[in-house]
Amino acid sequence: MYIVMIASECAPVAKVGGLADVVYGLTRELEVRGNDVEIILPKYNCMRYDHIYGLEQVYDDLWVPYYNRKVHCSVYFGFVHGRKCFFIDPHFEKNFFNRGIFYGSDDDPERFAFFCRAAMEYMFQSGKNPDIIHCHDWQTGLVPVLLYEIYQQQGMTHPRVCYTLHNMKHQGTAGEYVLRETGLNRAEYFYHPDRMLDTFNPFAVNLMKAGIVYSNFVTTVSPRYSEEIKYSAQGNGLGHTLYVHGDKIGGVLNGVDYEVWNPETDIHIPYNYGAKDLDVKYGNKEVLRHRLLLRQDYKPIIAYIGRLDSQKGVDLIRHAIFYALEHNCQFVLLGSSPDHDINYHFWHLKHHLNDHPDCHLEIGFSEELAHLIYAGADMIVVPSLFEPCGLTQLIAMKYGTVPIVRETGGLADTVFDADYSDKPYDERNGYVFNDYSREGLESAMHRAIELWYAHPDYFRGLIVNGMNCDYSWNHPGGHYRNIYEHILDR
Ligand code: ADP
Repeated sequence: MYIVMIASECAPVAKVGGLADVVYGLTRELEVRGNDVEIILPKYNCMRYDHIYGLEQVYDDLWVPYYNRKVHCSVYFGFVHGRKCFFIDPHFEKNFFNRGIFYGSDDDPERFAFFCRAAMEYMFQSGKNPDIIHCHDWQTGLVPVLLYEIYQQQGMTHPRVCYTLHNMKHQGTAGEYVLRETGLNRAEYFYHPDRMLDTFNPFAVNLMKAGIVYSNFVTTVSPRYSEEIKYSAQGNGLGHTLYVHGDKIGGVLNGVDYEVWNPETDIHIPYNYGAKDLDVKYGNKEVLRHRLLLRQDYKPIIAYIGRLDSQKGVDLIRHAIFYALEHNCQFVLLGSSPDHDINYHFWHLKHHLNDHPDCHLEIGFSEELAHLIYAGADMIVVPSLFEPCGLTQLIAMKYGTVPIVRETGGLADTVFDADYSDKPYDERNGYVFNDYSREGLESAMHRAIELWYAHPDYFRGLIVNGMNCDYSWNHPGGHYRNIYEHILDR
């Protein structure tokens, strides 16, 4: 099968969060299964170019409609750790992708609407005729609309579209200008509740809604999340649309790429280990302490790795830091936020705790340090308000780091409480709390810390259960393949 992924992120070259890991990991799995997969991305100037092999310009005559004119673009090709990636580079006074950031500009909807039109135009002009186009999140929600409203009429009738919702909090709303920008026009037609009209703003189109309505199949990144967004406020206004299109929606749990995230082979950690030689893990703990200037002591390290976003429960993350320090633990945080207030808050906290021998807060993004923390920590906290899937708890388990999570979305689908789960003992792999509150978090942290100190053998059992879980792309890869076949048959 010939599949083209169109996305705004791909690990490790353009990564903000889990979307990037999914685009890379799913592509690799599909290739292993014998499919021909290509990825189309914007050519950001802030990509990790050191991870792109053989980058070269392969198309220089791409003219992309933009309002009443055409914008000249070049297309580059390169391998990202073996994956075939095309990068679209507009030559344009607006410098859409040369701003040193992936997201966060006021004109993000305009930038990514342009990217959708450019990706489709490139496929059309270069004669690509995939079986499946797989797009992701609001940034590429216009792809199926452009396919069905423009390119099908021009003969591109073969491809079917699968659309994956990674996070319903960000939906991409914009004024009628995106319709004129991309050549869709016909505002009276698209400003309709059954098409692209936003639920809350009668003057806006909603790009994620467009993707849901126009795709042949829609997936969410965990089964629990696909229910939560239909039946709770987590749908952020799209619950009704999801309900109406319910027969083409399914939850497929994300996988983790164990080629990248595997303590037995990881090149970013000094000591490789597996469930059978777990003691070796603790060499990494020493190195982590040394690197972050924490004292060597008989204490567990609790970590947080992730975006510092209200979704992630920043108030509870803060509380976890102090709770850990007051209960004989060390704490390591690696995170960053585009939100000025949250960033400022954590910088302030960092200064406050700067000389603490048991705490290190690293405000920023570092793929390499993330690997060392997963390997060196004993536990990881993920107290999210909501969590579509969550990769950090899955990666942590593979590294023998016990997750302490809130029972929501993909966290609820993957972490089973040591004391209260109805799973058999050898499938229990962490600690879970239900209430989004300090007390809720404390109840789980307390039990985890106590087990670490009082019953190290049992704690080790939990670690091994987590390491034995199979959250690879194997199962999800099969599910996606079935979905593709299902929509191709129709
Ligand atoms: P989300 O997609 O909501 O950001 P996920 O848990 O699905 O959250 O995925 C997060 C991914 O991003 C993981 O691979 C995690 O290790 C990585 N990550 C998040 N923040 C950082 C950071 N500051 N430095 C390095 N890696 C990070």
